[in-house]
Amino acid sequence: MGLKSDIEIAQEATPQDIRVIAAKLGLTEDDLDLYGKYKAKVDYNLLKKDTGKKTARLILTTAINPTPAGEGKTTTTIGVADGLAKLGKNVLVALREPSLGPVFGVKGGAAGGGYAQVVPMEDINLHFTGDFHAIGAANNLLAAMMDNHIKQGNELRIDPKKITWRRCVDMNDRQLRNIVDGLGGSGDGFCREDGFDITVASEVKAAFCLASNIVDLKERCGRIIVGYNFDGDPVTAAELQAQGAMAALLKDALKPNLVQTLEGTPAFIHGGPFANIAHGCNSVIATRMAMHFADYVVTEGGFGADLGAEKFLDIKCRMAKLKPDAVIIVATVRALKYNGGVAKADLNEENLVALKAGLPNLLKHVENITQVFKLPAVVAINEFPLDTPAELALVKDECQKLGVNVALSQVWAKGGEGGKELAKEVVRLIDESEGTFEYSYELDVPIKDKINAIATKIYGADGVDYTPEAEKQIINLTKLGFDKVPICMAKTQYSLTDDATKLGRPTGFRITVRAANISAGAGFIVALTGEIMKMPGLPKRPAAEKIDVDENGVISGLF
Ligand code: ADP
Ligand code: MG
Repeated sequence: MGLKSDIEIAQEATPQDIRVIAAKLGLTEDDLDLYGKYKAKVDYNLLKKDTGKKTARLILTTAINPTPAGEGKTTTTIGVADGLAKLGKNVLVALREPSLGPVFGVKGGAAGGGYAQVVPMEDINLHFTGDFHAIGAANNLLAAMMDNHIKQGNELRIDPKKITWRRCVDMNDRQLRNIVDGLGGSGDGFCREDGFDITVASEVKAAFCLASNIVDLKERCGRIIVGYNFDGDPVTAAELQAQGAMAALLKDALKPNLVQTLEGTPAFIHGGPFANIAHGCNSVIATRMAMHFADYVVTEGGFGADLGAEKFLDIKCRMAKLKPDAVIIVATVRALKYNGGVAKADLNEENLVALKAGLPNLLKHVENITQVFKLPAVVAINEFPLDTPAELALVKDECQKLGVNVALSQVWAKGGEGGKELAKEVVRLIDESEGTFEYSYELDVPIKDKINAIATKIYGADGVDYTPEAEKQIINLTKLGFDKVPICMAKTQYSLTDDATKLGRPTGFRITVRAANISAGAGFIVALTGEIMKMPGLPKRPAAEKIDVDENGVISGLF
């Protein structure tokens, strides 16, 4: 079989008019802001309208610790939704919007893969409906108002040496990481060190994704801390009176974007903050609206379950009062072999020994979901073309021996038909589940206790160490009254530890927290265990070199 690229498969599909897709959800043309024939924004005010149905079942897709390639969470999320649709269920997918930076860098597209994709994939990957630019504009408006305030007399006594708010753009552009701006004469801005983050790393993005409505978003924008005054007290966007205009810029962006899978299953693609310094899942509004219109909603958390699922459950579900009904943990033979010590270049070779050695990583994530969060879980083995029957059988057998629910997923090769086994298992789990759900920590305990709970229960660490800098920051955050919020861990995604090279299921290790910063608008404390890159660069050969458009406006080279 000659393998087709994702974009070739997507371009061969005949998408349905988005109004037909919307009708599956009981939505009429009046409810839509149409963006051409295949995309529409759906008004969040519809949340106030009673649909007469009970709220939907919420299914989270997460994964084992990923390899550098990405292991198919998005693909599985889309495919299992198509599988549920094949079982006759009324289902909606809720996913993040891809950021331009990774599309032009290494990753290529982020709209699923093979026969489990959302379309139009070119649009979804490139600008889409402009939400990211709106978020960039809101971020940069705040930066402009802050610098202007200082220039115009600095009534708030902002210490120019203690500005924390940075500018942003949705591009992997390391040239802008550290800059000097405000050059020129006395009529120009004041000269200072500054820098850009990629838009997905902006706190506006995280606040946007956690906001329950436009008023909540405005209040979150107002709480954003731009820096500190000469007394060391935080200065907020509200003190600069920026929140109203910021929210005004975001008014349309906040409406979820409706598209469809290759099989015509409705999908909301909306929001998408960084998964390290933020929580890494689509907007609360999109998830809520999906649950408002459908009976089953499938959504995804970024990275592996130690980061993505933990934050989805402890941050997003807590803030939005959501209760998931089942969790799909995606594992691939390749990622398991990688966790079992196989180098990236050798992953195509059958290796049952390494595969078995990698399994404890998967089992730790299963235990976290079922024993810490008390949620029903199923392992989805995402089959890759070069997986051997012996390898696939080994993973299935080992899971079954340990009483772990498991299903083979062939959605990449076969779309919804290849997702039926998994979909049936998910429905069975939901029907038989007792509806329990616990967080991994409570909010009203000290900051360090919360970090400790995540590190010991979720990562399997013996404990947590703090640098003197982090100690000082935690004392200060507690003094400022920011200690009652959830923790957003910024940690490598490749390991359960804070060391990317420790694969599998490490034991006998400690986590080091190097800094603790408040994202007051998002409403969480970011605990950093290493350097986090907020403005990535392009690789030596950027994916952008292969992307092209022809005389008919047809795009090629996305993958
Ligand atoms: P994640 O969401 O975990 O980052 P994606 O679903 O975006 O992963 O998949 C990452 C890449 O791997 C995509 O290019 C996708 O086409 C590819 N991929 C996913 N599943 C398979 C599979 N079963 N076989 C081959 N390629 C796959
Ligand atoms: Mg993904």
